[in-house]
Amino acid sequence: MITKVLIANRGEIALRIHRACKEMGIATVAVHSEADREAMHVRLADESVCIGPNASSESYLNIPAIIAACEITGADAVHPGYGFLSENARFADIVEAHDMIFIGPSAAHIKLMGDKIAAKAAVSAAGIPVVPGSKGEVLTLEDAVKSAKKVGFPLLVKAAAGGGGRGMRLAQKAEYLAESYNAAKQEALAAFGDGSVYLERYLGKPRHIEVQVLADTHGNVVHLGERDCSLQRRNQKILEEAPSPALTEEQRTEIGEIVRVAITKIGYRGVGTIEFLWENGEFFFIEMNTRLQVEHPVTEMITDIDLVREQIRVAAGEELGYTQDDVTFSGHSIECRINAEHARTFAPSPGKVCDFHAPGGLNVRLDSALFAGYSIPPYYDSLIGKLIVHGKSRKGALMRLRRALGEIVITGVETTIPLFVDLIDDPEFQEGDYDIHWLERWLEAQAEN
Ligand code: ADP
Repeated sequence: MITKVLIANRGEIALRIHRACKEMGIATVAVHSEADREAMHVRLADESVCIGPNASSESYLNIPAIIAACEITGADAVHPGYGFLSENARFADIVEAHDMIFIGPSAAHIKLMGDKIAAKAAVSAAGIPVVPGSKGEVLTLEDAVKSAKKVGFPLLVKAAAGGGGRGMRLAQKAEYLAESYNAAKQEALAAFGDGSVYLERYLGKPRHIEVQVLADTHGNVVHLGERDCSLQRRNQKILEEAPSPALTEEQRTEIGEIVRVAITKIGYRGVGTIEFLWENGEFFFIEMNTRLQVEHPVTEMITDIDLVREQIRVAAGEELGYTQDDVTFSGHSIECRINAEHARTFAPSPGKVCDFHAPGGLNVRLDSALFAGYSIPPYYDSLIGKLIVHGKSRKGALMRLRRALGEIVITGVETTIPLFVDLIDDPEFQEGDYDIHWLERWLEAQAEN
């Protein structure tokens, strides 16, 4: 039984978790930095604790302060959200060592999937197709040269500890390998304190398609279909949709089943996402995220399953209570990430929100912690909201998205809303005809006009 959850996060995701808790009759504790004293997640939670100054390294990443907040408030579980400590195995271990429930997978699984070399080996052994590449880590440049001959060019040098697109370098040809190898290693060492790198074949025009899984501690695993997250800028997702416009029903069922069987073998618990690149009808695993994703609502909209509620239930040891056959997919959902950034230059735009009006109506969802008069602090991620729509078809979802984008009002700061207003009129986007490089090409073309 979980009776009080401490939410170790901020912004829209803290609110999202709070909502699930309240619907389950669970009390909530918000933690916050000094800058977030007036934030909506603090206002809505049953209790709140200030855990440190503005910098996230001293607040939202401050493990001793968060554990102290748990003890002061008597929380019996911790939900880490996404980002911050959500994929920190040590944090999961510490929470459990304090006799609390970590709402997420075991520390061992977080650690395994956090090392991309180990993760690739583990999922490959469980039957998931991976991107061809070096056999594990390449220890020296000499090693890299040898291995690159087998992998072929172009290739990527990738950091085992990589994340957020860091520690990744493209080598178009053999003569650039040394430069890419050294740069990736150095960046990985600086960013993650771990310079291990490996090689991977570079796919030219893939889509990013990821499969959502959910597992309990009794051996029951379901997949909840896929999300297409190919619309990216600098490897960061901008818009996501489910189902993917590229897959047939057979392809969806086949990859879902491969993933479900593999995750069962691995003995994973909680929610997780298996990320693939998809090219010419083939899936290639790139990584697994062992947490709730920003884009989880599009899956919720087409399955009618509350992923945070399920996370909490399985963390408490409950059985899923349904099987793959009970999971049904209905209609189409699209999510736009609204960032406090200029819609063309992507320059951050923190500051005070003057007017705020949320769109509404049937099957329109806005996950956001904004309110009129709120000051967006400059210290954290620029995501200020997610607009999610659902329609019976992709076309219906697009019509609804256009309508909802027309209703939303956020003044006082720049936002990425105008980007989506333009994007939605693009014929290729309307056809769902895009790969992971499409948005950057589109942005360049727009800038020239
Ligand atoms: P990170 O954890 O840093 O986000 P990922 O491995 O998830 O790194 O890759 C992030 C993005 O980089 C992918 O969504 C894709 O756009 C690109 N990418 C990664 N691996 C490859 C590859 N082998 N070929 C082409 N693009 C890739």
